[in-house]
Amino acid sequence: MTNNYNETTTDIVVLGAGLTGLTTAHYLNKFNQKFIVLEKQAQAGGVIQSTAENGFIYENGPNTGVVGNTTVVELFEDLTGKCELEVGGDNVNKRFILKNAKWEPLPQGPKDAITTTLFSLKDKFRILGEPFRPAGKDPHENLASFVKRRMGKSFLNYAIDPFIIGVYAGDPNYLIPKYALPKLYDLEQKYGSLIGGSFRKKMQGKTPEEKKVTRKVFSCANGLGSLTKALYQSAGSSNFVLGAENISVHPFEGGYIVSYQNTNGDLFRIKAKKVISTVGAYALGKILPFIDQSALTKIESLLYTKVIELAIGFNHWQGQELDGFGGLIPSLEKRDILGVLYMSSLFEHRAPEGGALLSIFMGGVRRQDLIQLNDAEITRIAERECRELLGLKRFEPDLFKIIRHNRAIPQYGVESGARFSTIHLLETQYPGLQIGGNLRNGIGMADRIKQGKELALNAL
Ligand SMILES: Cc1cc2nc3c(=O)[nH]c(=O)nc-3n(C[C@H](O)[C@H](O)[C@H](O)COP(=O)(O)OP(=O)(O)OC[C@H]3O[C@@H](n4cnc5c(N)ncnc54)[C@H](O)[C@@H]3O)c2cc1C
Repeated sequence: MTNNYNETTTDIVVLGAGLTGLTTAHYLNKFNQKFIVLEKQAQAGGVIQSTAENGFIYENGPNTGVVGNTTVVELFEDLTGKCELEVGGDNVNKRFILKNAKWEPLPQGPKDAITTTLFSLKDKFRILGEPFRPAGKDPHENLASFVKRRMGKSFLNYAIDPFIIGVYAGDPNYLIPKYALPKLYDLEQKYGSLIGGSFRKKMQGKTPEEKKVTRKVFSCANGLGSLTKALYQSAGSSNFVLGAENISVHPFEGGYIVSYQNTNGDLFRIKAKKVISTVGAYALGKILPFIDQSALTKIESLLYTKVIELAIGFNHWQGQELDGFGGLIPSLEKRDILGVLYMSSLFEHRAPEGGALLSIFMGGVRRQDLIQLNDAEITRIAERECRELLGLKRFEPDLFKIIRHNRAIPQYGVESGARFSTIHLLETQYPGLQIGGNLRNGIGMADRIKQGKELALNAL
């Protein structure tokens, strides 16, 4: 090592302080480990950032998570007193799908599924036969074909397509169920049927811990940023280096040397036994220069969709009633927005009394081009869609924010199998190195929390 570096030693270096890295850090601290987190940005949280402004609290990234596994439950228990979990109101199951430019309620049970106009009569009968249809044999069948085969075309167009837009801003023709929706894939593979498999899983007993997994939609009092702030505190803020640039990791004497620069250009080197990366696939080439090009290509081929997020607030709402989660727009409807979340209807204090806060999404896999629009063009689209779809006569918002995400959500396509096996190989080849983050193990917040804990446990 040369002398112009400031040198330190630790046991574990975590790269990235988004939800994954923060959760890993929270658990490393809980397990009394010695570690340092390096984060490129000046603040922790990654894509999760909430802003309070003029009586509104809006999100710049994800808006809601799901209490979808036991680690989410445990994490919020750990953070009691530091961050208040807020679950969506009683109206959370009121969700709408646009059909022929009109909002139709998404069926909430078998009775609604029979009467809904979203699905064709033929497909309603077809669904009755779903448990008797043979399981697919192609592990790389795409989601569109999978759903058409089991449930029918109208179910694909007016249930799964908008669902995928809501979760992935994605396209069912691109996503592979085995990688993107493994629970769904496993239902068919294990039980031979989605309906039969769900029923049999429901019948299986649950541990007291599993019973706490409510699958409720959550945010936090004052927005999701409260969660990442609480994690930053609980993990020990002195364990973090923010504004760490030009990070580069090199294997060294059975461990690793991690070098980086701070914002003043000072150079640092950390000698560590283990390294856990939680950064995006696109950043790995620079950070892990010792990985050979063919392995890197298999990881970097992951497609991240571009998304434009709009936070739109009104002090006095004068459009249609906003009661529920919000609405999603199937691709067939050919609109310029993907959907709208009624944030002030779901959670407390998101807008002034009598006002409204909307979160609108544009772009996604099918309309990656929209990210290039300038602010005036985006505003025009928002105005037109709010007038036509939300019954607003005048579009004069009191809050209007445009947040562009150039690498928003990874799309687990057919290349994912090679990515997962390459990561596994690299982790075997380089003991002590873990490559986590949303390039594997799921993209949702609950997935990130679950993986964050696993990364910490694996490093013990
Ligand atoms: C617009 C949007 C909406 C979403 N909506 C939802 C939703 O409603 N529900 C849901 O469950 N999920 C949602 N998601 C997905 C979910 O938010 C993410 O999967 C999750 O927050 C990602 O956390 P992460 O820590 O893995 O990654 P990130 O948040 O991306 O964090 C990675 C961190 O690594 C840092 N980093 C990157 N490169 C380097 C480098 N070279 N050196 C050092 N640090 C680096 C970054 O600055 C960042 O802080 C949404 C995502 C987006 C973008």
